[in-house]
Amino acid sequence: MATEPREDPADDRRANYDYASDDVDRPALVADLEDRVEGDVRFDSYSRELYATDASAYELTPIGVVFPRSTDDVAAVVEYCAYREIPVLPRGGGTSLAGQTVNRAVVLDFTRYMNDVVAVAPDDREATVQPGAILGSLNERLATHDLKFAPDPAWGDKSAIGGAIGNNSTGSHSLQYGKTDAYIDSCEVVLADGTRTEFGEVTLSEIAKRADPDGDLEARIYAEIERILEEDADAIGEAYPDLKRNVSGYNLDRLVCEARGEPLPGDEETGEAGTVNLARLLAGSEGTLAIVTEATVSLEPVPATKSVALLCYGGLHEAMADVENVLAHDPAAVEVLDDVLIDLARGTAEFGPVTGILPDGTNAVLLVEFYASGPEEGRDRVADLLADRVPDADPEGEPAEEIPDGGDPIAVDALEAYDAEERATFWKLRKSGLPILLSRTTDEKHVSFIEDTAVPPESLPEFLEGFEEILESYDTYASFYAHAGPGVLHVRPLINTKTEFGLDQLHGIADEVTDLVVELGGSVSGEHGDGRARTQWNRKLYGEGVWEAFRGLKTAFDPDWLLNPGQVVYREGDPTDLREHLRFSPDYEFESGFEPALEWDNDNGMQGMVELCHGCGGCRGDQETTGGVMCPTFRASREEITSTRGRANALRSAMDGDLEPGEAFSDEFVEEVMDLCIGCKGCAIDCPSEVDMAKLKAEVTHEYHQRNGATFRDELFARVEELSKWGSALAPLSNLAPKVPGARKLMEATVGIATDRSLPTFHRETFEDWFDERGVSAVDPHEADRRVVLYPDTYTNYSNPAAGRAAVRVLEAAGVHVAVPDVSDTGRPAFSKGFLDRARETAEENVDALSPAVEAGYDVVVVEPSDAVMLQSDYLDLLSGEAVRELAANSYGICEYVDRFDLDGRLEFEAPGTALAYHGHCHQKAAARDHHAVGVLRRAGYAVDPLDSGCCGMAGSFGYEAEHASMSEAIGSVLYDQVEASPGERVVAPGASCRTQLGDRPGAEAKPPTPIELVAAALSAE
Ligand SMILES: Cc1cc2nc3c(=O)[nH]c(=O)nc-3n(C[C@H](O)[C@H](O)[C@H](O)COP(=O)(O)OP(=O)(O)OC[C@H]3O[C@@H](n4cnc5c(N)ncnc54)[C@H](O)[C@@H]3O)c2cc1C
Ligand code: SF4
Ligand code: SF4
Repeated sequence: MATEPREDPADDRRANYDYASDDVDRPALVADLEDRVEGDVRFDSYSRELYATDASAYELTPIGVVFPRSTDDVAAVVEYCAYREIPVLPRGGGTSLAGQTVNRAVVLDFTRYMNDVVAVAPDDREATVQPGAILGSLNERLATHDLKFAPDPAWGDKSAIGGAIGNNSTGSHSLQYGKTDAYIDSCEVVLADGTRTEFGEVTLSEIAKRADPDGDLEARIYAEIERILEEDADAIGEAYPDLKRNVSGYNLDRLVCEARGEPLPGDEETGEAGTVNLARLLAGSEGTLAIVTEATVSLEPVPATKSVALLCYGGLHEAMADVENVLAHDPAAVEVLDDVLIDLARGTAEFGPVTGILPDGTNAVLLVEFYASGPEEGRDRVADLLADRVPDADPEGEPAEEIPDGGDPIAVDALEAYDAEERATFWKLRKSGLPILLSRTTDEKHVSFIEDTAVPPESLPEFLEGFEEILESYDTYASFYAHAGPGVLHVRPLINTKTEFGLDQLHGIADEVTDLVVELGGSVSGEHGDGRARTQWNRKLYGEGVWEAFRGLKTAFDPDWLLNPGQVVYREGDPTDLREHLRFSPDYEFESGFEPALEWDNDNGMQGMVELCHGCGGCRGDQETTGGVMCPTFRASREEITSTRGRANALRSAMDGDLEPGEAFSDEFVEEVMDLCIGCKGCAIDCPSEVDMAKLKAEVTHEYHQRNGATFRDELFARVEELSKWGSALAPLSNLAPKVPGARKLMEATVGIATDRSLPTFHRETFEDWFDERGVSAVDPHEADRRVVLYPDTYTNYSNPAAGRAAVRVLEAAGVHVAVPDVSDTGRPAFSKGFLDRARETAEENVDALSPAVEAGYDVVVVEPSDAVMLQSDYLDLLSGEAVRELAANSYGICEYVDRFDLDGRLEFEAPGTALAYHGHCHQKAAARDHHAVGVLRRAGYAVDPLDSGCCGMAGSFGYEAEHASMSEAIGSVLYDQVEASPGERVVAPGASCRTQLGDRPGAEAKPPTPIELVAAALSAE
């Protein structure tokens, strides 16, 4: 879509927002660090709480956070901290699951500034990257060369290369690619004393030359490596399990195998004997040996074709017993899904259709993916697998009706997927149940602490049996899923760590499962690393000899144990215990300090919601790589405090005593944490736990108003209905007033309304006026099969009556009787601004006004999406009872209504053929109702490109507020890019705010139309 070019497309368009709290702990330390670094230094209480957790069950407030801009900054911080004996913790996306990014330390967050892809050398299949570069963005950049960074951790679109090195990450395709260590060519690092150096390939003779036990830090590191290779190599060879995936402990088996020129466990080849790559020793070291400031990694070609088979089994045990047989076909991935997750997927609208075609009695599936050089080979490989593992299935026939009980561990049926969309559906199915597991608001949660053990694939049946017995003996359960091919099962037992009993379960289960793993020749961690959850078991896994080698290595690299201490290995006398520093422990206390004003019908009420975020960092993904709505403010500013996770962590800290009592209702908290949430509800749908931050914001803002009163501007925006009524009565004068020279400046200075924003214009003849003027309805209510009350929402009524008229035209053309009720606004503005009592009053009035019509069989239809969703869902948060439930169940957005009842099937269209870019409203996306307009527009004859867009950034009044203008524009620019990249010639959007934002797009001639106007325009003249 053509528009004016930006002044400089390379400009950093992040929101002009830098969080800086007044309240700084340890000011002398801050001053010293600020003197030494160019980056940001934050030691205020909010920042510290934001970095107190990761995706694990752990929480420990760090000393402070530094955002380095360069290797010099990193070296300066580390040198200074070494001198002051302060621990340091490097961090990427903070998506670790074992607690390795949680420590009492100065945190170095690399994702803010040190996140560049420095160079790509496609011919050498190599890229050089800074540690904060997100894997998804790196791969996007590499895609033009048909290359990729091959290890594929599931959260690669939110996690960084430094974290992948720190955890030696890998993902579903580890059978094909192995782990991150295999791809590290060299690293620039900062050592524990601040020395900058480079690690890469080095011969043993060079190591000997550099080694000096009495020399500087680097010389002492070489000396210890030489010692380990000479003295501990045999013990290491014996102690490490023979597994493709083992990330427990330090990467000493690779060091030894490389030195000897022997293949690694899992048969990965190493090079010539006598050469080792010391950069690879850092893989899996979890920030405890050195800090990576730049890495050169090797790349793999993107496979030409993929094909997928979903093998169906009667039970998990049969599936596990079949893994070895499946592996004989050399697949790129073998993933498992058990009955718990299949049942959860069955209950969802998205996956019901896929699970629906699984034969009855399918209680486990193996997803098997092949890479191939072309479609034919892809099909052949699936056919070979099916001939072997599903001999009775007819590939062309219907799925089996039922799975026979017991018997041979052979799959009884299979589904196949060859095109990208089908394959994506199967992969999504594999991941579908987890969000539901993680959306528990009870005190019992599916805790990750023993969730990634690895065993040889042939031991999976025995492991499963033993694991199930252990869980039963501890009176709990879990589901089993993930990477069956390399023997890595994800298992998260349900435990309440707020009780002593829960802590006993935690420790007892971990102890017994690690015994089982060791007995079966497995590893304590095959994927997520040691951290706080697993470090203590490394001693059991490897034995005293290797444990001492770990300590020797750690001491050589970090003589004072200041780099992320207590992870991977601990100091004698200071053991790491998985029960310490839990986010929820028996000592945990929660006090919200107020009575919630909204209905919270989930377990544990509002507290359950405040505690729901499990810290995965899913809300930190970019629009380009992650898509969806969540979280636009993070996408615009790349500040943790503006992510859903940041807000959730801050809010919980304000209510569990980590921040000052009452902090949640301070000016600072409301301004910095809550105000910047634009209430788009993206998190309510896109977050795996469905954290509803918009609702929490409404509660906190409401309570803030109770305690501190509201600003004039908030009152003004909350009463936009009255304002619009006046605007309309005084039009066109009211539309001219802001154009008087100086008027907008005055508005900004006095009320805080941004100067550059287009204000809504008002129509003298409102939609209601027009409708009344028509007199009788065009369709007799007694002859119509559907009857509708068309809600005159504020925006449609006063500012865009054309959309209301279009809605009437389409509905009546389809034979629907239309009436317009006598109601006020829906209460949306008051709700969004945190005036919940007022919103409730309005909701009550509207329920009273509309219920008789609903009882009489009328449906309620709304043009403005946020008002439609107000009736459909937010009213249920404000009110209880049958009447509001009935109203919610019978309310629809206009295109939703047309689509749901096939009304467009009754209409004749003159195919307009225009290509459209469609931007849906975020509230409708959150309610899974935004797709209807696309279907209706297509059937009306338009070619529609539905954008995978987030919130537009206007978000009601947000974009008008002067202090939020830069954030709003930065969010908008993400949408602008999508519109520009779309083949659509014209953009269409149902929401008033979105249309304003899109109307302000550089080069845009006017606000885009609403879908219903285009549908009406396409109606045949007859
Ligand atoms: C839903 C979900 C799914 C996941 N799936 C997978 C998966 O499939 N496979 C997998 O392997 N993991 C997975 N993980 C775990 C995690 O996402 C990965 O291990 C990821 O690679 C960590 O990257 P990060 O940027 O978040 O690192 P962080 O969590 O920030 O850090 C990880 C470790 O690396 C260290 N580190 C970070 N930067 C540096 C640096 N510059 N120098 C030295 N050390 C550094 C840190 O100190 C820490 O010990 C998953 C996590 C979640 C929440
Ligand atoms: S808000 Fe949701 S997506 Fe973000 S970290 Fe928390 S659980 Fe993950
Ligand atoms: S409501 Fe929107 S802006 Fe607010 S936290 Fe959720 S996704 Fe982010």
